[in-house]
Amino acid sequence: MSAMKILVVDDSITIRRIIINALKTIGYTQVAEANNGKDGLAKVANTAVDFVITDWNMPEMNGLEFTKALRAEGPTADLPILMITTRGTENDVIEALQAKVNSYIVKPFTPQELKEKIDEIVRSMEMKAA
Ligand SMILES: [Mg+2]
Repeated sequence: MSAMKILVVDDSITIRRIIINALKTIGYTQVAEANNGKDGLAKVANTAVDFVITDWNMPEMNGLEFTKALRAEGPTADLPILMITTRGTENDVIEALQAKVNSYIVKPFTPQELKEKIDEIVRSMEMKAA
């Protein structure tokens, strides 16, 4: 079990359920949800969020805009962000990495793959902090 609080941002409630169930499977039970980037920014402002998992394609504010907004603000500039999206072209991945997501998963994914990506990001954050 990890006490890390993860915010899951996706406009599909079904995808949010899938991600949250996968997180539970790998030991993360502290989760919050948002249905687009705008909602996500409000959640981050009002809740102690340690880690963000976000979709790309969403109405109101998409995941790329959301990522850029988080990176632009001091308190959230270093917040770990994992993007999980159906957008899987090389250009998509490059664009997301340029917006400074920490890592990227193309749907569909397995809980094991999710665990590996989260572990990798947490390790790199710990190395930066050390
Ligand atoms: Mg979507």
